Amino acid sequence: MLWSGWGDPALARELPEQVRALLRDFLGVRAPDVPAVGLESVRLPPVALSEPVLGALAGVVGSAYVLTSHEARVRHTRGKSTPDLLRMRAGDGSAAPDAVVLPGSHEEVAELLRVCSAGRVAVIPFGGGTSVVGGLTAPGPGFTGVIALDLGRLDRLLSVDPESLVASFEPGVRAPEAERLLAAHGLTLGHFPQSFEYATLGGFAAARSSGQASAGYGRFDDMVVGLTVATPTGILDLGRAPKSAAGPDLRQLVLGSEGAFGVITSLRLRVRRAPEERRYEGWRFGTFAEGTAAMRALAQEGPLPTVLRLSDETETMIGLAKPDTIGSGGSGCLLIAGYESARASGWGSVAARQAGAAAVLSRMGGEPLGAEPGKAWEHGRFSAPYLRDSLLGAGATVETLETAGFWANLPRLYDAVRLALAGALGSPLVMCHVSHVYETGASLYFTVVVAQEGDPVAQWERAKEAANAAIVTAGGTITHHHGVGRDHRDAYAAEVGPVGVSILQAVKARLDPAGILNPGTLVPPTA
Ligand SMILES: Cc1cc2nc3c(=O)[nH]c(=O)nc-3n(C[C@H](O)[C@H](O)[C@H](O)COP(=O)(O)OP(=O)(O)OC[C@H]3O[C@@H](n4cnc5c(N)ncnc54)[C@H](O)[C@@H]3O)c2cc1C
Repeated sequence: MLWSGWGDPALARELPEQVRALLRDFLGVRAPDVPAVGLESVRLPPVALSEPVLGALAGVVGSAYVLTSHEARVRHTRGKSTPDLLRMRAGDGSAAPDAVVLPGSHEEVAELLRVCSAGRVAVIPFGGGTSVVGGLTAPGPGFTGVIALDLGRLDRLLSVDPESLVASFEPGVRAPEAERLLAAHGLTLGHFPQSFEYATLGGFAAARSSGQASAGYGRFDDMVVGLTVATPTGILDLGRAPKSAAGPDLRQLVLGSEGAFGVITSLRLRVRRAPEERRYEGWRFGTFAEGTAAMRALAQEGPLPTVLRLSDETETMIGLAKPDTIGSGGSGCLLIAGYESARASGWGSVAARQAGAAAVLSRMGGEPLGAEPGKAWEHGRFSAPYLRDSLLGAGATVETLETAGFWANLPRLYDAVRLALAGALGSPLVMCHVSHVYETGASLYFTVVVAQEGDPVAQWERAKEAANAAIVTAGGTITHHHGVGRDHRDAYAAEVGPVGVSILQAVKARLDPAGILNPGTLVPPTA
């Protein structure tokens, strides 16, 4: 993973001339290309952890797994939001951990939490490092040091129960590896977020992730049937049955807890039989309102495709749903529908579902575009993040944000966020798509592009604050799938109210009395 950007540096992409022209003519981007500093030039604070504490950590995991090198610290500094990348590109490593520690078992994680609690060392669980909400930022003063707890050595498939369709994994397994391991059993998880190539199963659970095929396979939190969690006060082992009436479901307390309550050391996941067939296709709608009405009809009446995504007029015009041919979009609103079939999934044949959905989409005013747009989307489905690096280098800021709401409130939410972004940024390019639908509502995912000002981080923070306030006021949730981290903490507090906040604080105080687990993330500090 590129430390200052996304993905494999060999796959970095030059901006096509159409895009450069768009930036110049439409957004007024004039800045010359600004390359990132070299990794060796990133400025890090000195290692604050004392030798005895480093020795105690090495006593738990072995000295080979306590890293304090410049490179290891840089690679575990922050996540992959645009402000994170802007700071890293400028050589600002002020949020670096003092050490990177790689445990090899649940027992080692538990022992590390004991050592760190006793020594008041902050612990930031680190999966794939793809957080976009400030979930991996070292806390300020108040600790004797900070470690990134890299879960990469916990990378095994532990068991497969083909009868129940449950697979048990360690948390550091990256998504492509999970799919590869399951494919050997004829199974799939079906979780394909845009961060698929690098994110881990533990990170998906900790941040309540949602993938591109969520209409068919569900969100990641729907897939988790059991969890083992190491906390400073003991072990939580949850999930004896798919559903239970035994009190509140404590699994839900761990899902979305973002490393603030404990470290997930294994997960039991619902898996599906691998699809025998996949088909993707495109449809065009005249307006976003018509397209969302068609999605609602599919979500409420069925048949629901496995993948369902609708770009608004601006996103369609720019062609963002097909990043490999960006800059050459069309008119109206592009809808991508994907169908997968698998024996025993209960989904029926691809042909039957495709025909059923086509009848609904036609009735709702859609024009079929055939397989080509679907294939283009499938081909480019993980490419957009590479484009962000090129845009940042070219003097444009590009960032995404997302929310969700009930169908009846979606137009208000859509307008409120766009207005807030325009108010804060002047004339940004704001694109939107819907890619996660439910019977009662859907998510809205915005991509914003704007010419960078002198301080692009401050510029984006201004926009983000305005968008957060608009989401809260318009009655949406502050996040549908990116999570809370530090960036959404205040808005999350507003969403759950003072009693909700006091519950979070009480759980935190009970599980993590020394307050060492990912301080500043998710849970507002006690006044
Ligand atoms: C380019 C890009 C595209 C993205 N696309 C999507 C998308 O389509 N859908 C989506 O849902 N998200 C998306 N994200 C956000 C991100 O990938 C998800 O939040 C993902 O769940 C994070 O997984 P990770 O393994 O990288 O976790 P990290 O980023 O390493 O950690 C995320 C949070 O969980 C905590 N954590 C990690 N592992 C554990 C553990 N084992 N136990 C306890 N806490 C833990 C961390 O401390 C942190 O607070 C995207 C991010 C990027 C950069």
